[in-house]
Amino acid sequence: MTDPYSWIDDALNTIKRAHWYRHTKTLKGLPGPVINVEGETLINFASNDYLGLAGDERLISAAAEAVRQYGTGATGSRLLSGHREIHGELERAIARMKGTEDALVFSSGYLANLGTIAALVTRKDVILGDRYNHSSLKNGAKLSGATVYEYPHRNIEELTRLLQSHRNQYRHCLLITDSVFSMDGDLCPLPEMIGLADTYNCMLLVDEAHATGVLGATGAGCVEYYNCTGFPLIQIGTLSKAIGSLGGYVAGSAKTIDYLRNRAATWIYTTGLSPADTVAATTAIQIIEKEPWRRQKLWENVAFLKEGLKERNLLPSASPILCMEVAKPDQALSLSQRLQEAGIYAPAIRPPTVPTSRIRFSVMATHEKEHLKKLLCSLR
Ligand code: PMP
Repeated sequence: MTDPYSWIDDALNTIKRAHWYRHTKTLKGLPGPVINVEGETLINFASNDYLGLAGDERLISAAAEAVRQYGTGATGSRLLSGHREIHGELERAIARMKGTEDALVFSSGYLANLGTIAALVTRKDVILGDRYNHSSLKNGAKLSGATVYEYPHRNIEELTRLLQSHRNQYRHCLLITDSVFSMDGDLCPLPEMIGLADTYNCMLLVDEAHATGVLGATGAGCVEYYNCTGFPLIQIGTLSKAIGSLGGYVAGSAKTIDYLRNRAATWIYTTGLSPADTVAATTAIQIIEKEPWRRQKLWENVAFLKEGLKERNLLPSASPILCMEVAKPDQALSLSQRLQEAGIYAPAIRPPTVPTSRIRFSVMATHEKEHLKKLLCSLR
């Protein structure tokens, strides 16, 4: 008998030969700047928990209390039996932080992108997206059925050229971009994109996953950092990075959110966010509002590490994501391994996730100076 799954062995071998094979590593204990990875105590430069809130006692107690009060699961989709007052509270908190009329919470940032993009455009429409956009934006574009053009990373001239040649052939046009590029750490040219969206009558969706809680005077994100609050944007984000919980959101005008409640399949046909995740996220947003020192400390840490790494092939970054380029995937892997032997946890990021291999350092507000010095010392 032939085995219809035999090709999977070949595919796995190809992945291994290219040094692209990945596997999970098991962490123990609470998240934080120092973690236990498979029995080893390591300084953590691999976390998206930028403000150190995922292990915060206040989030933990709020989540535990929510479980006691509302149970473990939402038990149904939001439009049927899964909507609770805590969901509304979280959505109002997100809209307040973002300075938008309304917000809608999804089960993850990935699902927020898939559902929102596929609801906004269809086969008659066109999407223009940055080549380095996150997988969820790219797959949302595919799912929508719209024609998709990718422009070179952050290249406004090429985006303009694409708009000039293609915009008129389509009904609606959606521009999609990460605000902080997750595997590089640089920012999208948002003001210029807003200008183009205005000139060419386009919707503009910006993914604030790595910017929320991190960038801008109050931590509202890249939109705030560029003083673009109030512009007609659709902002996507996650609750799983600086907000320390799980889930995703879209924030925008009341009518956009109302439309998405009626058209976003990844929101309509899935179970509401769990009570624990919901309440943890609301608590985190309140803390972000009350404790600006976390953001200040984060940026001090970023500045310190950037200064220390400046001779080291750093990719341009305006965020807490600092990437050191390494020529080949196997070199990246062995450098990451050697760092681990020195007590540093920093992953090698390789193709196909990124075009070139790199070690990615993700800075946290709760890193101590000693942690950063140890990294610099180990690299030396
Ligand atoms: N967008 C970007 C830019 C991301 O980096 C991520 C997470 N890696 C997501 C969306 C997805 O968010 P989530 O983890 O909540 O699904």
